[in-house]
Amino acid sequence: MEFRHIIDAILNQKATLEDIALKMYNDPEIAFNEVKACAWLCEALEANGFKVQKGPYGMPTAIRAEWGSGHPVIGLLAEYDALPGLSQTQNLYKDPAVAGGPGHGCGHNLLGVCTLAAAIGMKADLEKSGLSGTVVFYGCPAEEVLMGKTFMAREGAFRELDLAFAWHGNYTNTIVLGQSGGLNSAVFHFTGRAAHASWAWNGRSALDAAELMNIGANYLREHMPPTSRIHYAYKEAGVAPNIVPDKASVWYYVRSQYRRQVDELYGRLCDIARGAALMTGTSVEIEFQGGCYNTMPNKVLADVFAEVYPLVPAPEYTEEELAIADALNRTRPEYDPNKPPAEPIHTGFIYDPDKYVISPGSSDVGDVEHIVPGIMVLNATQNILGVDHTWQTTCCAGNSIGLKGMLRGGIWMALAAARFYRDNSLVQKAWKTFREDLDGETYNCPIPKEVPIPQPE
Ligand SMILES: [Zn+2]
Repeated sequence: MEFRHIIDAILNQKATLEDIALKMYNDPEIAFNEVKACAWLCEALEANGFKVQKGPYGMPTAIRAEWGSGHPVIGLLAEYDALPGLSQTQNLYKDPAVAGGPGHGCGHNLLGVCTLAAAIGMKADLEKSGLSGTVVFYGCPAEEVLMGKTFMAREGAFRELDLAFAWHGNYTNTIVLGQSGGLNSAVFHFTGRAAHASWAWNGRSALDAAELMNIGANYLREHMPPTSRIHYAYKEAGVAPNIVPDKASVWYYVRSQYRRQVDELYGRLCDIARGAALMTGTSVEIEFQGGCYNTMPNKVLADVFAEVYPLVPAPEYTEEELAIADALNRTRPEYDPNKPPAEPIHTGFIYDPDKYVISPGSSDVGDVEHIVPGIMVLNATQNILGVDHTWQTTCCAGNSIGLKGMLRGGIWMALAAARFYRDNSLVQKAWKTFREDLDGETYNCPIPKEVPIPQPE
């Protein structure tokens, strides 16, 4: 096969790649604190001859590494942050390795290393072929709080690229066209006046204000687009019933299908907060935390990924892996014993170029996809009934089911890159589609300049 050298270059480093993914699994670090993960990836990139910048864009756990020269410049978007509270051992029931500790419940340990694998494969291809082309590996912190890439974009990242590739673990092997929503995240801090709740009448309750804000937000729901979502959680809500709370904080996410809808809804939500403060004689401070664009996957890139997919080694699982996946499937509420899934782990490939899916989630990959043509592709890294952000996903992120999907993903991205390195007209085609999709819109970073970048604790 013409591209055998790409697959071999990645599989030759299988042991190292798996080792890094398992180190991250066993030592999970949450958003903006991915210090060790960042160091392990930098070390591996350096060992592979990449020119590595550790901590660019004012983010100590970000990475920019490159190899090659000239166009096309293809960027790879790595993530490696874990989720709080999703620690899990390899047991097939909920069993945190560290009670309340973080875990890779979205498999970003696999994501970071899959992207490293792709970079290794792309370098091997450029080296062997002597073609013009550059691979840029971006280590992107803090995807789980949906703002790492947005901060990086604010600081100038990604504009150097011709194309951007992203990968994620999933319960299927697939490419999804369509979009997930844009988002804003903000904490509303209300300040009132404390008082004895029974003896005095001169208190001003910050908690009343927060509750009225939530009621206002609930009335807003009737007048927002059906694909918009608003959710909130209290961060602070008083300490005792006999003290009028002088402090209350509520954390909101506003999501919508398009960035402009997020801006509009968020503006109305801020008005509601100010109205709640006015009603209660309190004040409100709005702490804007960050935001991201909706995703905008590029169809030309999707078609090329679909075209090269048959060259990726087919998924093969041992009896033991199938038994693990089957046991995990049975722990899911979706499991129907009368109609069990046709296979415990997905082995096929799903791509419908005519299907446009509106996903309720969000990803900061959307920001990159509004700067250059980009795509995210998915490989099965868990049981077929697996759902991200659960202990079952954490479990598979640390076993051979996850590792197999990770390596297949790295190979897939490197094979797709090989097509673009050999045919610049595909890059031009992707840009034409990108401009059509943008429809006159230009990227305007959702995070204002004055919002500081969170630093490792
Ligand atoms: Zn994720």
